[in-house]
Amino acid sequence: MTRTITRFTHEGVSDAEVSVHPFATGDGLGLSLTRFLRTEGEDVVLLVHGLTSASDVYIMPEHRNLTSHLLDNGFGDVWAVDFRMSGRFPYDAETHRYTLDDIALYDFPATLKELRRHVGDRRVHVIAHCLGAVSFSMSLFAGAVDGITTLTCNSVSLTPRVPAFSKVKLSLGTWLLEYVVGLPFLDPRFGDAPFLTRPWMLSRAVSLFHGECRERACHMQSFQWGSGKPAMYEHSNLLPETHARVADICSASGLHYYRHVRKMVSSGRAVKYAPDDARYAGLPRDYLQNAADVRTPLLLLAPDRNRVFTDSNVHLHKILERAAPGRHELAVLPGYGHLDPLIGKNSYIDVFPRIVDFLKRHSA
Ligand SMILES: [Zn+2]
Repeated sequence: MTRTITRFTHEGVSDAEVSVHPFATGDGLGLSLTRFLRTEGEDVVLLVHGLTSASDVYIMPEHRNLTSHLLDNGFGDVWAVDFRMSGRFPYDAETHRYTLDDIALYDFPATLKELRRHVGDRRVHVIAHCLGAVSFSMSLFAGAVDGITTLTCNSVSLTPRVPAFSKVKLSLGTWLLEYVVGLPFLDPRFGDAPFLTRPWMLSRAVSLFHGECRERACHMQSFQWGSGKPAMYEHSNLLPETHARVADICSASGLHYYRHVRKMVSSGRAVKYAPDDARYAGLPRDYLQNAADVRTPLLLLAPDRNRVFTDSNVHLHKILERAAPGRHELAVLPGYGHLDPLIGKNSYIDVFPRIVDFLKRHSA
């Protein structure tokens, strides 16, 4: 891959004071918050990435990004967290046994503690994507974080649903990859591995089924995530520069989080991975059990071509409507897939205004 855009750059956000704030979780991981400050107002926005993207999905320089859009539309104090799923940290490409419960219990309470140290009791709006949206919602519905003014979840939240082929991959894939193929993690860059090594062979085998483009990293991402050609986005929604660097945007990923997702898919909702483990006694077995008591309004973004988490957010909205009628909102996004609502070339026209409208209505 010939890199034309610097990896892990902040240059996608102009006219803002950028500062990085390291902090620690209760179980001893170093994480970080990046602040993009133009003006301090009554509202603060916290951006939460997915697996295994990073804060970078919100600050991409090749198109108008969500951070710049928020700064230009009255939200002058934007923070982006990199938590343990971030591609900016090595944690998920190392051998580990973290689940989404660890993130709900440790990462977001620590994130909010560090954020509040700087912004005090100002309103905090959270915008989250993919498994970041699932785990932040878990943290909120478990009461591990509170005082959140709004929560926007793209693609999925507390009821992960996946295509039929993904269910097969979730049930057999982790076992096959670890015990038969002998790979502890998956990397969209496997296409660049040395000739005839296992990563090289896996990449070539995956590409046999993906004639939709010539980007091997795009094929591997479809294999890692969901079911489609491609699975993660509509090609037509991406700039060529973005498509060429998808491995920078979503990088290598371990296999263990998939096990927790599989358990949630089969349960039909977010559930605790190890209900009898005393370390997680403070978390509920079923994260929706007290849904009626959660006062934070949710905006559920539901791309209608979502081939990773299908209609998860449409389904959740029905459940939340029964628990708290009228409190939460659903926005179906026509023509969008799982990730392109955030990294699409026209998201600033089709998607971001919908989010800003929701935030402004809850800032009055
Ligand atoms: Zn592609």
